[in-house]
Amino acid sequence: MTGTQDSSPSKKEKKAREPKDPNLRCKAYKFRLYPTKKQVGKLEWMLRRCKELYNAALQERRDAYRMCGVSVSYRMQADQLPAIKQLREEYQDIHSQVLQDVLKRLDKAFAAFFRRVINSETPGFPRYKSGDRYHSITYPQGGFEILYGTRLHLSKIGHIKIKLHRAMKGKFKTCTVKREGEQWYAIVTCEYLHDASMTFHLSLEEVGVDLGVKVFAMLSTGEAIENPRHAREEEAKIAAAHRTIHRRKKGSHRRHRAKKALARVSRKVRNRRRDFHHKTSRKLVEQYQIIVFEDLQIKNLTATPTPKQDEETGAYLPNGAAAKAGLNKSILDAGWGGFVRLCVSKAEEAGGTVVKVAPHFTTQVCSGCGVVVPKGLSVRWHSCPECGAELDRDHNAARNILHRYQQAKPIGAGSVPQKPVSLRGEELIL
Ligand SMILES: [Zn+2]
Repeated sequence: MTGTQDSSPSKKEKKAREPKDPNLRCKAYKFRLYPTKKQVGKLEWMLRRCKELYNAALQERRDAYRMCGVSVSYRMQADQLPAIKQLREEYQDIHSQVLQDVLKRLDKAFAAFFRRVINSETPGFPRYKSGDRYHSITYPQGGFEILYGTRLHLSKIGHIKIKLHRAMKGKFKTCTVKREGEQWYAIVTCEYLHDASMTFHLSLEEVGVDLGVKVFAMLSTGEAIENPRHAREEEAKIAAAHRTIHRRKKGSHRRHRAKKALARVSRKVRNRRRDFHHKTSRKLVEQYQIIVFEDLQIKNLTATPTPKQDEETGAYLPNGAAAKAGLNKSILDAGWGGFVRLCVSKAEEAGGTVVKVAPHFTTQVCSGCGVVVPKGLSVRWHSCPECGAELDRDHNAARNILHRYQQAKPIGAGSVPQKPVSLRGEELIL
């Protein structure tokens, strides 16, 4: 062993050891890009090359495991990049960190796969990406710069016109260039230090929020925020677009056109939903200092119920799948997870707090006296035989959610410290 090894840890080791500042926050901004035709060609070429690399790396991992039982790591694959660049010169025209990021994505896909295996969920092996399933490239550290407030400089691509519709704060961390249908976007993440002492909320009001199916949200005050149901409105259009694609011949121009049309409709639905979430969360955050949600395991709610079989006849019994399918659609439609995340980040900047409480029995318990009043999914009204409370099912739940927070709160404490929710990368964009 050499003397230098133990005395001076490498830069990387040092960085890993340093505890992260708990006030460090990450925020993502999404801007529209206006590349020229030539630049679009270059970007699409890069997407194809990255997809190729992704698939090749996936192939390598599969083969190595299948033939020799060897697990290939990210490091092993990243170390091959220089050799690949020698062999395939076109890869020299792509920023090296972009290529590393491609391998990181694959590594993440595998990590998620193994996590699912360990948790004995349905694993789903990482898939090969086809051309229309690879939409973005990421500059994870550098290689990008904003110039004159109107241009995004990307290494190996050039200056692309960008519309900076809002100011960013903090230090640039990553930049992802993304294709959405025919439009291009840049998602820039910034890191900044949050100073809690600089923000305080003007109101002391607390509110419980029940995210629902019939209405988007019911507040403990009894106020209902109606569901916009964007996706439902445009559902017919989306379904029609899907049918058109399937009717047309694979690889044909007409099919390609139909795909573009579908991407357009989907984008509109997404944008409208995001807009609704931003406006609604803004309103809540401005009015209330403490916002209490149920800690919903959204994934569990959206999972398909397991089929039930009659033991004797083998016939399938009703398992509530049909009822749940409708509920699932509404949940996905409403995008609760993204909405809560927006509330968290907005509340923090406004000096408020978002709290999550355990979700059990919030609909069943009476918010007036605490007695359990069992009711099925279809029962919309809560009437208590004990205390005579009469109110909407969701309103009752919202009141229970608020109570749960108030009971858990230590007396005199203004707010419960919450673990900040990371808003890295695309998580923010719905
Ligand atoms: Zn009661």
